[in-house]
Amino acid sequence: SRPPVSVLGLGMMGSALAAAFLAAGHPVTVWNRTRSKTGPLVAQGAVPAGSAAEAVTGGGLAVVCLMTNDNVRELLDSLGESPVGRTVVNLTNGTPAQARELAARATELGIRYIDGGIMAVPQMIGGPHAYVLYSGDEQAFETHRPTLAALGGTTFTGADPGLASLHDLALLTGMYGMVVGVLQAYALVRTEGISATDFSELLVPWVGAMLSGAPQWAAAVDSDEHLTDVSSLAVNQAAVPNFLAAFRDQGITTEFFEPLKAILDRAIEEGHADDGLSRLVDLMRA
Ligand code: NDP
Repeated sequence: SRPPVSVLGLGMMGSALAAAFLAAGHPVTVWNRTRSKTGPLVAQGAVPAGSAAEAVTGGGLAVVCLMTNDNVRELLDSLGESPVGRTVVNLTNGTPAQARELAARATELGIRYIDGGIMAVPQMIGGPHAYVLYSGDEQAFETHRPTLAALGGTTFTGADPGLASLHDLALLTGMYGMVVGVLQAYALVRTEGISATDFSELLVPWVGAMLSGAPQWAAAVDSDEHLTDVSSLAVNQAAVPNFLAAFRDQGITTEFFEPLKAILDRAIEEGHADDGLSRLVDLMRA
């Protein structure tokens, strides 16, 4: 029989996590601040815990998924002495610094701490495209890896508990950069009444082809060798004012792209005209 799991926090994500553990055959204990949310999971076979402390002590591995890490901190502080020796996997979204603080607090309480970042929406949990980034107590992670595999792929990013969140935020950074560009492009074509749907047929292969260069930019960043035969910062600096002018002429905002102009201007001022765009990583250091 499969090892028991507790899930604390039954929002949209926590409920999906608990359902995936049940589907994989684990005995599941559930706890939620608003107790009525345990209903659907109890109907699927989960057992409701009377308190968070009971869930952490009674159910083997404890998986926590609350709104914020402040909520997780409060939860840890409410557990009392009981959870010594237990393993907590915190899948709440947060920052590397928060993860490190929670790991330190958990260690004080005698809890083994693993932080995580969920790379999926609730509907994907347990499916082929979901995975979770983990970091922290590696021995505890290896012990519980077969259980955590019920949620999707298990990607360990290091013993520093901050690393899962760092990777999670970096992946989302790439996503938001892409989203902002795509939405600005739609806003631009809509100024002439062009269908965004039709335009997406041009945009998707274009962005995909550009993204396929990302490993080469990564090699330039890692080697700190930015000289390019593709497109120099000087050429990009000359082009970006055209975007800003066109956005103004067409009546859409320039606010997302003004910073691109500013950092390109700075790169040229600092003598990097012949380098490629990968040089901007240097200029992003505060
Ligand atoms: P929901 O808003 O659906 O659920 C929030 C959960 O947090 C509820 O269980 C809520 O309890 C609990 N909660 C809030 N405040 C407290 C508190 N002070 N003490 C105890 N429990 C509290 O959010 P999600 O489930 O969507 O998200 C949960 C976490 O998962 C977030 O950190 C989110 O960033 C992350 N995540 C979500 C994804 C998604 O697509 N939904 C994707 C990847 C990560 P109550 O029912 O009592 O209000």
